[in-house]
Parts: sequence; C-alpha cells; structure tokens
Amino acid sequence: MADQTKSIPVNRRGVSRQRNSKRTRKAGAPLPSERFSATVRMTLQRAPHGSDELADDCIFCKIVNKELPADLVFEDDELIAFNDISPQAPVHVLVVPKAHIPTVNDLDEDHAGLVGRMVLRAQALAEARGIDEDGYRLILNCNAGGGQTVFHIHLHLLGGRQLRMLG
Ligand code: AMP
Ligand code: ZN
Repeated sequence: MADQTKSIPVNRRGVSRQRNSKRTRKAGAPLPSERFSATVRMTLQRAPHGSDELADDCIFCKIVNKELPADLVFEDDELIAFNDISPQAPVHVLVVPKAHIPTVNDLDEDHAGLVGRMVLRAQALAEARGIDEDGYRLILNCNAGGGQTVFHIHLHLLGGRQLRMLG
C-alpha cells in the first residue's frame, strides 16, 4: 500500500513513483479520466497500484480465487492460464499472474522474473497447442489507449491462424 503519510507516493516496495512525474498534467489539459468515454472510464476504475491482494471487483482475481469459472489450461503457485472467453484466434490463451497487478505501468525490477516466467509459460503452451513452429503472437495491452479492458495484467497468446501484420 502507498504510504499516505508522505507527500511523495511510494509503491508497495517503497519505491518512489516520482519517475512518473514526466506524465504530470499541463495546466488546462484533461485529467486522464476525462480523456475517455464513460464506457472506457468505467474500465479505468481499478484496485490500488501494485496491490498483491485480490481486488474485490477484479474478474481475474475472481478466476484466481475460483469465484468465477474459467477454462483453465495451466495453474501453479504464481500463474494461471485460461482460454479467452472471446477468442480472436483458434488459440487464444491468457497467462495471468495470481497477484493483482493492474497494468504494465505497475511493474518494476522485482517483477522481472515473473514477467519472464509468463513469457516462458506462453511459449510452453504454444508448443503444447502445436502452434510453436507456425508461430504465434504475445500481447500485453496497457491502459485504455493500449486496448486494456481488464485491469489485472495478462499476456495474450494468439495463434492457430495467419495473424495480420501490425500497423
Ligand atoms: P485486454 O483487452 O487486453 O484487457 O484483454 C482482456 C481479455 O480478457 C479479453 O480478450 C476478454 O475476452 C478476456 N476476458 C474477459 N473476461 C473473461 C473471462 N471471464 N474469462 C476469460 N476471458 C475473459
Ligand atoms: Zn485482479
């Protein structure tokens, strides 16, 4: 939890979040929450940055906690993986850390191992699904502008058909 007694916000590891100060809003510029439609704004409501606790209103925490069903394809102490409910390709798996980390912006050096293991898990699942030789795509969307709709980080594994080039 951020230390509310200090004027400089710190994350749960006590690391200053001042590095984000370059994102400081210019006078008169819209607040981040004002830049998006009401629908997108709803998706921006999320648990505190970097919380390790399960967030009450987070669907992926609910899947981790077995309060919501999912088509699980992998689980260990740290990660869970399940088929996407709205697949965009014949293979569309989400690799999800059990810890509630809202966005890629909340990752720091301490998460390097976790993120590496997410990629390696996706690699293993791609092989298990027989798409490793043809190829596949791994995607981490960040925030509304990046297409993120569920604010608990997840790595998309997509494959099983020819994917369009980006851009
Ligand atoms: P993103 O847009 O990167 O945040 O991706 C969120 C993904 O989660 C989308 O592809 C959704 O289809 C998927 N999704 C949402 N709810 C569920 C659910 N209950 N089970 C499986 N996948 C889900
Ligand atoms: Zn969560």
